[in-house]
Amino acid sequence: MIDIKEKYMCDGCHACYSVCPKDAISMEIDDEGFWYPKVDNNKCVDCNKCEKVCPILNKKEVKSLKKAYACYNLDEDIRMKSSSGGTFTILASEIIKDNGVVFGAKFDEDFNVVHDYVEDVEGLSKFRGSKYVQSNIGDSFRQAKKFLDDGRKVLFSGTPCQIAGLKSYLNKDYENLVTVDLICHGVPSPMIWQRYINELGDGKKLSAMTFRDKSKGWNSGVLKYRFEDGSEITEEYGESLYIKGFIKNCFLRPSCYKCNFKTLDRISDFTLGDFWGVEELIPEIDKKSGVSLIMIHTKKAQDLFDDINRSIYYEEVDINKSIVFNTCAIESVKNDKRDNFFNILKNNTLEESINGSIEEIILKVSIVMKLKNKMRKILKS
Ligand SMILES: Cc1cc2nc3c(=O)[nH]c(=O)nc-3n(C[C@H](O)[C@H](O)[C@H](O)COP(=O)(O)OP(=O)(O)OC[C@H]3O[C@@H](n4cnc5c(N)ncnc54)[C@H](O)[C@@H]3O)c2cc1C
Repeated sequence: MIDIKEKYMCDGCHACYSVCPKDAISMEIDDEGFWYPKVDNNKCVDCNKCEKVCPILNKKEVKSLKKAYACYNLDEDIRMKSSSGGTFTILASEIIKDNGVVFGAKFDEDFNVVHDYVEDVEGLSKFRGSKYVQSNIGDSFRQAKKFLDDGRKVLFSGTPCQIAGLKSYLNKDYENLVTVDLICHGVPSPMIWQRYINELGDGKKLSAMTFRDKSKGWNSGVLKYRFEDGSEITEEYGESLYIKGFIKNCFLRPSCYKCNFKTLDRISDFTLGDFWGVEELIPEIDKKSGVSLIMIHTKKAQDLFDDINRSIYYEEVDINKSIVFNTCAIESVKNDKRDNFFNILKNNTLEESINGSIEEIILKVSIVMKLKNKMRKILKS
């Protein structure tokens, strides 16, 4: 049975949870806010399906077509509401037009990030825009399998590890399945995200949020939060404490620092990302509202791309050159701040922990905290 000895050996993809025929596996949250499988020994029948399905324990070698394009959605409104060039919406709409089903990551009513599916084009707005938090797969692998077995077309989008988990769970090639993964920096802790929005809103309930508002342009992203009392907070990218912690890798999932799925040879059909540095390759491209980098890994993806290319602007690029400014496509991020961050967090606020681990002023913070605690004790006595 699955037994996670080292946390970096589990990406939380839910494949083991989904495959268990006895529902003996639950996904439990650890003290850093990430899901890990827990087996109920009373229900387990030792079939070992959970170990066999794990995409980390059973890594598959794949060979991709390695084609890449710079592209963007010609619908300016959708492009503005999407994180890069709005290419996801075009792919997803094509599947829905064929009576298909699209799976993606959305915010639930409490602003947790969860996977869900939609069957109409209007529903796609929930999935538009990157949510920089690990998404909870829940039962979506099982739901996708049911749609596939019923003969419906399915587009499943997610992080590279989620797509690897889905493919391993399905354990066969479905002609009616299209998979879309992302160039992924790494996924932050859902617990840290919840703590952040609580501290930011001072307990007020969030009613809307976007990580990538483009009103000041694609390169100068802004985070926008609206609360139920009508108040709003806007954070410039470089100034957002959450983004600082994300970009500096303070609170990513342990497996993200040794990611098994960052490669140009992907198991997915498509990979989508922001085409950072596109102006170096295509100086004349209109980049103000965002440009996607789309990688094509399979013939199925190439055929679908040929079908949608009337709705997009696109130019083929050399895949190796396309990722020069986006090494997250092929390399894991550095793990040099995470331990400090979680250590400081034990006795301090999120703000102190992010700043403390980034600026490496642990000593200063802990001295201040000790002093504060001493003062509190003196005041109480
Ligand atoms: C955690 C994370 C890290 C990323 N890191 C990078 C990076 O380092 N470099 C880079 O170029 N691009 C990165 N991206 C991808 C990029 O931000 C865009 O999502 C991508 O370019 C697609 O943009 P779009 O305009 O086509 O569509 P959009 O409409 O913006 O795309 C939304 C798509 O992203 C999916 N999605 C959103 N949030 C999540 C989530 N939490 N988990 C799984 N799927 C999600 C949706 O299901 C949908 O498929 C990252 C995305 C996420 C979620």
